[in-house]
Amino acid sequence: MKQSTSKGHFYTSLVFRLLVSVLVILLVIFSVGHIIQVELAKKNLYQQRDIQIQTQREKLAQEIQIREKERLRELTEQLHILVQSVKGPLLNNISRIQETSPYIEQEVVKRFQTCFQKNTSQTSFECLKMYSNHFTINAVRIVNHLMIQTSIQLLLARGDILAVEILDWEDKIFAGFTLNHQGEISTIKQKFVRGQYLESISQKVLDDDYLGKVIFYYDNHTLDKIRERAEQEILAFSNYTEQQVNTEIQRITQSRIIEASIFFLVSLLAISFIVLVTIIRPLLLLKRQAEALAQGYFPQKNPTILARHDELGDLAKAFQIMSDSIRQYYYQLQQTNAHLEFKVQERTRELAQKNQELEQLSITDKLTQIYNRVKLEEFFQEQISHSYQTAKPFALMICDLDFFKSINDTYGHQAGDKILIESAHILKNNLRETDLLGRWGGEEFLILCPATDTSHALTLAQGLCQALARHSFTDLKQRVTVSIGVSLFQSQDTQESMLERADQALYRAKAEGRNRVCIAH
Ligand code: GH3
Ligand code: MG
Ligand code: MG
Repeated sequence: MKQSTSKGHFYTSLVFRLLVSVLVILLVIFSVGHIIQVELAKKNLYQQRDIQIQTQREKLAQEIQIREKERLRELTEQLHILVQSVKGPLLNNISRIQETSPYIEQEVVKRFQTCFQKNTSQTSFECLKMYSNHFTINAVRIVNHLMIQTSIQLLLARGDILAVEILDWEDKIFAGFTLNHQGEISTIKQKFVRGQYLESISQKVLDDDYLGKVIFYYDNHTLDKIRERAEQEILAFSNYTEQQVNTEIQRITQSRIIEASIFFLVSLLAISFIVLVTIIRPLLLLKRQAEALAQGYFPQKNPTILARHDELGDLAKAFQIMSDSIRQYYYQLQQTNAHLEFKVQERTRELAQKNQELEQLSITDKLTQIYNRVKLEEFFQEQISHSYQTAKPFALMICDLDFFKSINDTYGHQAGDKILIESAHILKNNLRETDLLGRWGGEEFLILCPATDTSHALTLAQGLCQALARHSFTDLKQRVTVSIGVSLFQSQDTQESMLERADQALYRAKAEGRNRVCIAH
């Protein structure tokens, strides 16, 4: 089960990495694809534009051709009319040319004549076509195949004069004639250079004031206009196409941006979801575990993350090792702490006991094991304070063993000590719980009796005297007696004043014969 989970996580991690890689590759492909698509669209649109411009040009060329054809047809018709009008007079006067021209001219004229005689539009058309763009002169050149480089030109000078020139092989005019609207030919048998001859003809036309109709007029202007309009159309079309290309590129880019945005958004969401599920959630879990560990709780093992074969899995394992180590150290520390605490408690108990013992020692008389002077003074002061507050009486007794010196002398100091111990014991046994007995010094004992008036004090003291007198001391043949001086608290009393009065009472008891009680006045 664990192995399958581990494998599952291994594949999840692998799939995640593959998915991210594929997304990145797709993004790159998408970007490159967009660039290629834009370039292709541009190329396609420019191709379309070029084709359309070409088509437009062809259409224009056709239009011009049609227009030229129409124009040439008109010219041909005009020429035909011209030829018809000049044919007769030309034929009549051709002999004049023949007379004045040698064989070459004759041959040329014959050809020219033949040309007219053919009287076909086609010939005239072909002839005119060759020089259709001539500036002010539209000419027909008929190449003489027999006489190479010799030609004849049909010239239109200004107005309605038909002029013909004959050229030699060097293209020089050596003969020329004009023809008026009446078909009269005037021959100019003279060699001219071309410009001079034209000027001459023009001058002659003007001077002679020939009248008649315009033979033909070639309308270059219309064609220019057509060309101009076509060029404008092409330019406008080109601009329009450019605009279309830009619009199309903009459209593609916009749609691509939208697609890219959606793609990026979806990819981002997918990646975010995957990252959330596969990285952030386990990280948060690890964080919670770390926080729990920081607060002293040992988190449960998380087999899902531990089974992963990636960085997070490694992190979880490292964390688990750390957690286990801390747990182990923690338990060791707890044991050590418990042990130390036990030791401390033990020591504290011992110390408290020692303290108690010390305190007890500090207030205990070493020999008799009853309270010493320290405790007596402390209790004495408490009683005085209490009586000051409550105005209740208390009694002070000074008990002095009688003739103790002689006992010491008789039985020895150690025997004296034992008597002191036993005496203290007897006194204590005959006192109330509330009374406090202490050794004041030597063979003197002090008894403080709280809440005790004179009669009670007297009774108590007498009881003590009797008890001691009746007691048979160990290893002592004689009896031991005690004399007791008693003083009772009076207002404004101090320890000293009460002690003094008790001492005086004791003195009196001694003086009166010992083994008795005297109460201070
Ligand atoms: P009195 O009846 O007048 O009190 O006669 P006394 O002999 O008891 O009086 P005194 O004060 O002259 O003698 C007290 C004696 O108590 C002197 C001393 O040797 C003895 N004594 C004092 N302290 C101790 C003690 O700790 N142990 C022993 N064995 N004797 C002590
Ligand atoms: Mg004494
Ligand atoms: Mg004495």
